[in-house]
Amino acid sequence: MTTASRLLVIGNWKMNLDFVEALHLGQQIGVILKNRPAEHTDIVLAPPFVDLRSVSSIVDSERIAVQLGAQHVSQHDNGAFTGEVSTAMLKRLDVRWVLVGHSERRSMYHMDDEVVAATLQTVVQAGLNAVLCVGEDLAVRDEGQQSDFVSAQLRSALAGLDEKYAEQVSVAYEPIWAIGTGRSASGEQIRAMASTIRAQLKALGLAGTRVLYGGSVNAENAGSIVSEGGVDGFLVGGASLVAESFLAIIGACDGCYAGKR
Ligand code: PEP
Repeated sequence: MTTASRLLVIGNWKMNLDFVEALHLGQQIGVILKNRPAEHTDIVLAPPFVDLRSVSSIVDSERIAVQLGAQHVSQHDNGAFTGEVSTAMLKRLDVRWVLVGHSERRSMYHMDDEVVAATLQTVVQAGLNAVLCVGEDLAVRDEGQQSDFVSAQLRSALAGLDEKYAEQVSVAYEPIWAIGTGRSASGEQIRAMASTIRAQLKALGLAGTRVLYGGSVNAENAGSIVSEGGVDGFLVGGASLVAESFLAIIGACDGCYAGKR
């Protein structure tokens, strides 16, 4: 079970919703949260870059209890990196969180372990919170190599990270075979991996880091996953695009946390 003092749920909107649609979803989330505030759960919205300003404005004007996240950032501070965005640009838009090494970035945009590690350093040095995404594909899982694989990803991204940045790091375990497939990992699989990840984090001097799960989480399975999986929250893709289902997932986390304290 979680030892974190607060849970964390992040909505990764991926490449969905233009800035008007984003405003609308932000408003809907705000209305529901006013009626059903989350007491034990930090909430982060990670819209596309071009939506950040509209989501930030609605969050500010309506005082919605969510923080802003970005789905990616450049490892560089500025310069000739066409299509990229820097940490300084994100900070100007009140972004506090950044996903680092999402499997879609790793597989589609050649974000290798070295770039993941460099990006993570850039993010924490800029004073932002990094959500390091790790997880195996089906072939690795079928060979039973998932623990070694994920541990290696953690070592590669976090070894040498100054302990002063520990509180700025969270880890999201996202098995690739569960992302967007409708086939979530089982509570047992998640619990086993969360324990592997926590042991590896401890060895790296990062004990206390929040461990999230991501992969086909929805309103129906969130409650059982958070309690059986023993994670500190979720990274949610598809289900974060519908206010009611996203808030139901947050409610499941909050309820589970409250029930166990
Ligand atoms: C994700 O892409 O981070 C994710 C978890 O997606 P989904 O919830 O749609 O599986």
